Amino acid sequence: MYYNSVIQAVGNTPLVKLQKVVGETKGTLLAKVEYFNPGQSIKDRIAIKMIDDAEKKGLLKPGGTIIEGTSGNTGMGLALVAIERGYKCIFTTTDKQSKSKVDILRALGAEVIVCPTNVEAEHPDSYYSVSKRLAEETPNSYYPNQYDNQSNTQAHYESTGPELWEQTEGKITHFIAGMGTGGTITGTSKFLKEKNPDIKVIGIDSVGSVYKKYFETGEFDENEIKPYMTEGIGEDIIPEAINFDYVDEVIQVNDKDSAVMTRDLASKEGLFVGWSCGAAVVGALEYVRNNPLTENDVVVIILPDSGTRYISKIYNDEWMKEQGFLD
Ligand code: PMP
Repeated sequence: MYYNSVIQAVGNTPLVKLQKVVGETKGTLLAKVEYFNPGQSIKDRIAIKMIDDAEKKGLLKPGGTIIEGTSGNTGMGLALVAIERGYKCIFTTTDKQSKSKVDILRALGAEVIVCPTNVEAEHPDSYYSVSKRLAEETPNSYYPNQYDNQSNTQAHYESTGPELWEQTEGKITHFIAGMGTGGTITGTSKFLKEKNPDIKVIGIDSVGSVYKKYFETGEFDENEIKPYMTEGIGEDIIPEAINFDYVDEVIQVNDKDSAVMTRDLASKEGLFVGWSCGAAVVGALEYVRNNPLTENDVVVIILPDSGTRYISKIYNDEWMKEQGFLD
């Protein structure tokens, strides 16, 4: 058996039981380890779906250019699909992202434009605005816009959700995922709650993001927006890919706790994962502390990406000390 293209290997990632980082609990905590995807992140799933749907709608034609604002993981997925199908890629990203993410995208043949992080989304230099402008100016280009693209959410409804239902034989009781675009939590939870409406969904947000307050009060409060470093979760906008109707609780976590937990996942569980994975587990453990599990509880936590993109940051002792994250 072989694949004709590496992107056929996307999905069907394993569930791995968390043992050492969990502490005392009667329930089972399982990690969905998304670095097993060929682009080493969960975003491969949406890359294929967004491009398939664009081709079907005639929005992307042979020889076209894919333009996207991406923190790296979606770019990697899109770059893999583009290589298979002969498209060009131009990505905008922010100077907050690990340099290694940018280098990886360039290695896959993409052009990458690095934009400033600490400007508002509407600012002409923001990575949202630059990607939008390039898409308007470049002939035969397609702008997937993962934030507002329903194919993002649908990808998880069609793949992540069914996989979790099958892998747990319908025993999943809690689903926990970080919220960036919101595609993962929305699409997966929609599928799972259609199967069993009692499944609890907990969204993990970062301190400095608008999501938690928006979820709890309905208010979009700009005063919530503060700089933070954890890559991939939290937003300063409300994307169309997110639907809080499927979310039961939102927990905010901070950079330090998330970074330290990420290193623990590597050293104690052998899971060499990315920063938002530590964030998801910190949030999950807070939830479990406040809502003790029974022996029938099966909690699935999404670990979105790989540690390789964070070697110069959280896996670097000097960097961790400079941030005050390590004694
Ligand atoms: N973690 C990482 C590392 C990511 O790149 C993303 C995507 N922004 C997420 C978490 C959140 O996933 P989603 O966009 O589906 O909410």
